[in-house]
Amino acid sequence: MHFLKTIFSDSLHLFYPHVCEGCGSDLLQEDNLLCLRCITDLPHTRFAQHAGNPIEKIFWGRVPLTAAHSEFYFAKESLVQQLIHQLKYKGNRAIGIYLGELMGRSLLDSNRFKNIDYLVPIPLYPDKERKRGYNQAAVICGGMSGVMNVPVLTGNITRARFTETQTKKHRTERWENVSDSFIVLEKEKLAGKNILLIDDVITTGATLEACCQVILAAADVKLSVATLSMATK
Ligand SMILES: [Zn+2]
Repeated sequence: MHFLKTIFSDSLHLFYPHVCEGCGSDLLQEDNLLCLRCITDLPHTRFAQHAGNPIEKIFWGRVPLTAAHSEFYFAKESLVQQLIHQLKYKGNRAIGIYLGELMGRSLLDSNRFKNIDYLVPIPLYPDKERKRGYNQAAVICGGMSGVMNVPVLTGNITRARFTETQTKKHRTERWENVSDSFIVLEKEKLAGKNILLIDDVITTGATLEACCQVILAAADVKLSVATLSMATK
C-alpha cells in the first residue's frame, strides 16, 4: 500500500512538480510546504519561554498583559517576510496555517501560555477582509487551534471606520487614536476568560495595544498577545 502510494505520489510529482514555498527548490514530499533547509533557517525567537522578552517590553506601561510573544524575527527580504507576503497578498492560506502550527507548538512548550480559553484574531476592517477574502490573523489562529486544542473566537470584536459626517462633525478632533475603531460586540462572551490575541506582525504595537485596551475595558479578562513575527530593522 505504501509502495503504491509512493508510486502514485511520484507520478503525480512528475506532472505537478511541488516546490518549496520559501526557496522554490523541488520538494519530494507533497505534504510539506517548506524544504528542510528553509525549515531549519526559520528565525524562531524563543521568546515564549521568557518573561520580560522584547515583545512584553513593548507593552510595559501601556497595557497590562499576562504574557506576549512573537514567533519569528521579520527582516526585510527575509524568508519570513516572503512567507507572510504570500499569506497576506497571494491568497496562500496554507502558509498561514503552517506557520500558525509552528507558533502553537512553541506556545505549548511554554508554561506562560497555559489555560487559554480563546484565540482571538485581531480584526481587519470589514471592507478589507471582504476584499482579501479572509483575515490572515484568523488563518494563523486556525493553525494554532489545531495544535493547541483551543477554540478560535471570531466576529465578537469588530473594527469600524469613522464616516465622513462623523469626521466633519468633530473636525477639531484628531482621529489618530485607533482605539476608537475597535468594538466588542458581546462583552459577556469574554468575561472571566483567558484570551490570547493574535496578529501577523508587530511593529510599534499601537494597533494591538488599541485592541487590548478595548478588550480590557469591555470585560474582566486575562489577556496575552502573540504575533507570528516582529519587525526588525
Ligand atoms: Zn526551501
